[in-house]
Amino acid sequence: MKRTPLMISAVMASSLAVMASATTAEAASRPAIAKSILNHRGISLATTHDSGRPDKANAKQNIKDTAAGRKAKRSHYGTAPGGSVTLNKTMLNSMLKLNTAKRFTFRVTEVAGGSHSRGSKHYAGRAFDVGTVNGKRVSTSGAGYNNAKKFMRACRSYGAVLVLGPGDSGHSTHVHCQW
Ligand SMILES: [Zn+2]
Repeated sequence: MKRTPLMISAVMASSLAVMASATTAEAASRPAIAKSILNHRGISLATTHDSGRPDKANAKQNIKDTAAGRKAKRSHYGTAPGGSVTLNKTMLNSMLKLNTAKRFTFRVTEVAGGSHSRGSKHYAGRAFDVGTVNGKRVSTSGAGYNNAKKFMRACRSYGAVLVLGPGDSGHSTHVHCQW
């Protein structure tokens, strides 16, 4: 098929539009996204671990450090390797949009901290856990189950490559979204 100048400009316009939207999505810096997460009351960030081990690797401190332009700390107990990691920007953007666009209120229980399975993507700064969605604790039945399933679908819609929750081994009380 022969392309007319009009068709070529239409193709250019559509590729420019794609470029523009990609630029917009990446425009906010990692610290700016983290600050926004801290400022949205619908996103609650845990200051402790389920293990009860206090450290500077809890979810709130991970996001505070990121907001300050620092790496997020990992725990160093169980299989956790210690040290620190840069949080994945798509994960941070998705966490924010789950509240601002998808209108979920939720509690993040872990980001880079805590002890998970060996080699967990939490340690790579690419996963977060959620224990409560829209005021209901994640569970295997009732609203806690239904809300968790909706939240899991929303994570997938933002490109999460691994999403686990009620029905998956070890995830009856929390949702894991990983990029
Ligand atoms: Zn997890």
